Amino acid sequence: MRAVAKTEPGPGASLVEMDLRPPRAGEVRLKIEVAAICGSDVHVYNWAPRVARSDMDLPVVMGHEYCGTVLEVGPGVTHLQPGDRVAGETHLPCGDCYQCRIGKQHICQNLRIVGRHVDGCFAAEMVVPAIGTYRLPPDVPAEAAAVLEPLGCGVRPLLDEAVAGATVAVLGAGPIGLFAIAGARALGAAEVFATNRSEFRLDLAAAMGATVCLNPTREDVVRAVLERTGGVGADIVLESSGNPEALLQGLRLLRKGGTVLLIGMPSAPVELDLASQVILKEAVLRGFHGREMFRTWERVVPMVRRGAIPTAPVITHRLPLADFEEGFAAAVERRAGKVLLLP
Ligand code: ZN
Repeated sequence: MRAVAKTEPGPGASLVEMDLRPPRAGEVRLKIEVAAICGSDVHVYNWAPRVARSDMDLPVVMGHEYCGTVLEVGPGVTHLQPGDRVAGETHLPCGDCYQCRIGKQHICQNLRIVGRHVDGCFAAEMVVPAIGTYRLPPDVPAEAAAVLEPLGCGVRPLLDEAVAGATVAVLGAGPIGLFAIAGARALGAAEVFATNRSEFRLDLAAAMGATVCLNPTREDVVRAVLERTGGVGADIVLESSGNPEALLQGLRLLRKGGTVLLIGMPSAPVELDLASQVILKEAVLRGFHGREMFRTWERVVPMVRRGAIPTAPVITHRLPLADFEEGFAAAVERRAGKVLLLP
């Protein structure tokens, strides 16, 4: 079968022909219906410094966001059978470490990542541990299912916050930020600010429910939020851009006692004025690594099924798998939302 693989350190990837082994104990073999390019795939593709320093196993088939159909189950897999449709959960926990035993599998001590440590979904088929899949209700369309993983990333941080009636500022309007905007609205936020340097992405933010769209290249985001909130600031800031400057602005536009939810991965260490921006402000900063397994899924999938969180506006590109180079180029354009690859 054909697959897009990272075969050696350095930028780029290769279209390869490979044989798939049968599923072992606890694994399933899937037919990939739709795959999607994640920002982290772009970092792997470009061989970003953080990736180059990581423990990635090469060669490896890239990709971890997908909708697939079960073709075959390995020994011991009882909750899935051929014909079941699944979406990809990227985290592969060991099931036995301290975090796994206290119900925090998604931050397993021995965490492995699909598309980095085991072969991923940019392929016609894949073999993957069943724990890394989520069985879908029949009424979730394949394209929506393929983006549930980033959708869960964006919405999860909000699920345990008092969002109803609150003012939420979502910094960055890539796919995860866009899903966070829709999630904030679905959870009852009174006002949702969106920021992005791209007018195209701000239009997507408006389509996903942002009430105020701000372009930091044209306006002072901090001042705009403070003005609109009577000088109080936002109750919740969700940082999805990974831009250190955006995070520093987020702390300044946060109200006293507010909460910053961190999802975007800064490319370099960030220097904070803890005294004025966190301690005296009694700000809460929380980091999030993907979705809780599988509490996030059980809470966001019904919201998608009932139309409370749309997925269609975010999906802007659909390309055959063989055109992956074009897909990776499109994924970093400012006129793109989610880029799908069709095996
Ligand atoms: Zn573990």
